[in-house]
Amino acid sequence: MRPEEDEGYFNSYAHFDIHHEMLTDRIRTESYRDAIMKNSNLLNGKRVLDLGCGTAILSMFCAKTGAMVTGVDMSDVIYQAMDIVKENELENTIKLCKGRLEDLDFEHKFDFIISEWMGYFLLFEGMLDSVLYARDKHLANGGLLLPSRCTLHLVGMEDMDTYEKIISFWNDVYGFKMSCMQKEVVKEASTDIVKQQHIITSAVQIADFDLMKITPNDTEFTSKFSLTVKRDGKLTGFVGYFDTYFDMPSPVFFSTGPQAKPTHWKQTIFYLPSPYIIKKGECVEGTICVRRKRKEIRSLDVGISFADQKLKYLVE
Ligand code: SAH
Repeated sequence: MRPEEDEGYFNSYAHFDIHHEMLTDRIRTESYRDAIMKNSNLLNGKRVLDLGCGTAILSMFCAKTGAMVTGVDMSDVIYQAMDIVKENELENTIKLCKGRLEDLDFEHKFDFIISEWMGYFLLFEGMLDSVLYARDKHLANGGLLLPSRCTLHLVGMEDMDTYEKIISFWNDVYGFKMSCMQKEVVKEASTDIVKQQHIITSAVQIADFDLMKITPNDTEFTSKFSLTVKRDGKLTGFVGYFDTYFDMPSPVFFSTGPQAKPTHWKQTIFYLPSPYIIKKGECVEGTICVRRKRKEIRSLDVGISFADQKLKYLVE
């Protein structure tokens, strides 16, 4: 992607509310902190690249272990990060560079590359490409990426109340019919918290990304799924979420699924055009296909086929 096409993306990270949202997501931030602190002997004295350092929070956790840290960010938030690092008297340990990772050169390779790159439905934002680029160019032999592995999952939901509010709503708006909106609204994947009691099927893993091994092409994939129905009811949508692993001597893991404590990623919901009746014990079988949107490479096209329905969604 040409840098000028990405201005909007980096500008979005210049606003402070997005950093507040990430920092107050304790599941997210404390998982990174735990992965770093519980393995501090591994990081001590090593070189760490914090790719997309934002407020430099991960850089500062790493600095506490005795690592030498380089933080990089293209967004103007890096100017605040510079003040933050000074405020904490860590300027001798943390070096900050403003720029796109892809445009920067470093004098040495890094033993660790840490990054919080995950987007909605894991792959939205496409920041993973930069992490893989950094891995291939700047990671020393035997070095490690943090996190090291992410998996994507799908599960079925039944929540007629929310379905009525979001989808059926368009049938009667102040006495007018707007039902033509429904089929458009359904195409936009929505980001919301799905309560565990609304989960009506087993969950299935649709992708497993070993970050040391994958290439950007692997993030476009097709996966068959089979979800076992747990009770009679109506399927109102498919729910996507991801899990994140720090595979280290003291491993750390967190999930963004509906069974776990909510994070700022919430879950990604693919609503059905109409509720689909299902019976306990049967399997909902289908295929999910994830592709980058051709013209807006940071967005995703998701196709879900099941029971003779071919549904198309946009994650943006
Ligand atoms: N590490 C911080 C911020 C994570 S948000 C924290 O955990 O709170 C991701 C950050 O990565 C954003 O600030 C964004 O501007 C930056 N970023 C994304 N892609 C980048 C790239 N290619 N080069 C430099 N910075 C990048």
